[in-house]
Amino acid sequence: MSDPRMIAREARARYDAFKKAPVSLDITRGKPSAEQLDLSNELLAILKPSDFRAADGTDCRNYGGLEGLPEMRALFGAIFEVPAAQVVVGDNASLTLMYETLALAMAHGVPGGAGAWSAQKPRFLCPSPGYDRHFAICEDLGIEMILVPYKGRDPDMEMVERLVKSDPRIKGMWLVPKYNNPTGTTLSDECVRALAKMECAAPDFRIIWDNAYVVHHLSETPDALLSGYAAGVEASQADRFVLYSSFSKVTLAGAGVSAMAGSKANMDWLLLHRSKATIGPDKVNQLRHVRFLKDLNGVTAHMRKHAAILKPKFEMVERILKREIGDTGLATWTKPNGGYFVSLDTKPGQAARVCKMAAEAGLKLTPAGSAFPYRKDPQDQNIRIAPSFPPLAELEKAMEILSVAVLCSAEA
Ligand code: PLP
Repeated sequence: MSDPRMIAREARARYDAFKKAPVSLDITRGKPSAEQLDLSNELLAILKPSDFRAADGTDCRNYGGLEGLPEMRALFGAIFEVPAAQVVVGDNASLTLMYETLALAMAHGVPGGAGAWSAQKPRFLCPSPGYDRHFAICEDLGIEMILVPYKGRDPDMEMVERLVKSDPRIKGMWLVPKYNNPTGTTLSDECVRALAKMECAAPDFRIIWDNAYVVHHLSETPDALLSGYAAGVEASQADRFVLYSSFSKVTLAGAGVSAMAGSKANMDWLLLHRSKATIGPDKVNQLRHVRFLKDLNGVTAHMRKHAAILKPKFEMVERILKREIGDTGLATWTKPNGGYFVSLDTKPGQAARVCKMAAEAGLKLTPAGSAFPYRKDPQDQNIRIAPSFPPLAELEKAMEILSVAVLCSAEA
């Protein structure tokens, strides 16, 4: 390995040159690129004026159909690996369904519990690095967050088991089981089984199983994930896992279709309260999606087109990080098999400084600490890279700036 002083000096000279010719680049959020959105343009005109009836004759233009069109429930049922009757279809954002679930739990409690969570000072386990918007929901609703670190691909299960067994205030846990945002990891079978079996002091413990990236593979050998719901049923804990996903990153990020699934008790509970909030979801959009995607094979074929656009971007990130940082020991990063992110770890105590330096050279990154409860990364070392949105040439420049900012920490 080269002399750290030399690395830092050379990097500083390159960084100063970047600063003299500042750019305006943004790799903060996992947004699909315009090229990806174009893959679904057909959706915009797929329904002819006479095409507004679902397979069961439902007039999709009208009110009603709270649980969703049967064909859309069947499609999400196939994705979730649960019977269609246990799927509830939402509108465009699964995040709304997650927020709704926890807001309802706070207000009313959930099946099997002792009433409103808000009266029980609820706590949630937050495996981290995780999805910042999950943590924002907890903060918004006043649910205390407890950070659980990842140990490889799984959360520290010894810690999880110990905490949930002893503390009845711990009401649940966030998980992105496949291609986690931002680490890209998929839970092991042992972990899924342990989550289903573990003894919880709270009888109404819920795992928010956010399978946002369930069909978002980057390779032809995708990660395999054991069904959390099936593991729960096997362990006589059918109510424990509540499943969420959406077509936001399948079709149009702002106009997709979301869904949730789980035990009959959980879905009946949700529908009971939902019926007070809406007369029914946007069935026209559901019908458009069914016409466009057709079935699970249609979804899989469509996702290959996304992968063809995304793969070169992930390869670019890997190439530049390897070329610039390589085995200096100044950072490690993930090489995901799917999802939307690369997660980079600097040396402890360097992430905030690297993000600040990048910003001063015109590169916006998700603020350091974002992937942790209360935005506090205890090690100040994690940086999330979202390569999907910028064109390749911009991404290359962005990765060079980030790498040089990392190299500047050689002497730190
Ligand atoms: N869940 C995870 C893990 C995500 O990364 C995202 C978006 O980045 C979402 C949910 C948002 O999903 P939706 O568009 O369905 O609200």
